[in-house]
Amino acid sequence: MSSRVLLASGNAKKLAELRRMVDGAEITGLDVLGLGDVDPYPEPVEDGATFEDNALLKAREAVARTGLASLADDSGIAVDALNGMPGILSARWSGPGGQDGAGQNGAGQDGAGQDERNNDLLLAQLADVPTPRRGAAFVSVCALVLPDGSETVVRGEWRGQIVGERRGTGGFGYDPLFLPDDDIAAGRTAGELNPAEKDALSHRHKALQQLLPALAELAEA
Ligand code: IMP
Repeated sequence: MSSRVLLASGNAKKLAELRRMVDGAEITGLDVLGLGDVDPYPEPVEDGATFEDNALLKAREAVARTGLASLADDSGIAVDALNGMPGILSARWSGPGGQDGAGQNGAGQDGAGQDERNNDLLLAQLADVPTPRRGAAFVSVCALVLPDGSETVVRGEWRGQIVGERRGTGGFGYDPLFLPDDDIAAGRTAGELNPAEKDALSHRHKALQQLLPALAELAEA
């Protein structure tokens, strides 16, 4: 019989990335579920002080609600010139979401309109910051919590810089503003990379790679 893991994200685009990466790892005997496969429950308030706190509270809530092993990501962009902000406030940097694009569980934090407002605000905040001081990192912290209470928390970071105007329509969130440091990106923003290219470089990829042994162990259980 297969083991199951729930990817506890209400952000459809983030969920798609997580699912591609976990499915792509081809761990035998592991069924990957999304929030659409379980009874709906309200997303917990993300009131932690760190990415780690928030990833854990989302994964713990998913286990408590469903009884399934659960994996949650908390992520964001940390901009050097803003002393690491927006950080854990990335999803709502321009203020609470409106009606657009409510997530699976209704939090409304991943709408395209919210992304546009967040990007506008970040561009305005950095308007006078010269290129050498526009460094930033995408951060992803993934937490895997099992019904027996065991917890694994990992972190991935992706360095780059914030460009002066949007480029590309791929990905989500701040992707059109983020120019990766990696030579392989060849001067393209994350919004100009195709999904496979982003998956190979991203903060989420770097975090999930570290979770694969724990997921393989879960599959064997
Ligand atoms: P969370 O759902 O609370 O983890 O918020 C994540 C937020 O960080 C998203 O709404 C985006 O604004 C931003 N973010 C996280 N990962 C990415 C990414 O891969 N690309 C672009 N923006 C991201």
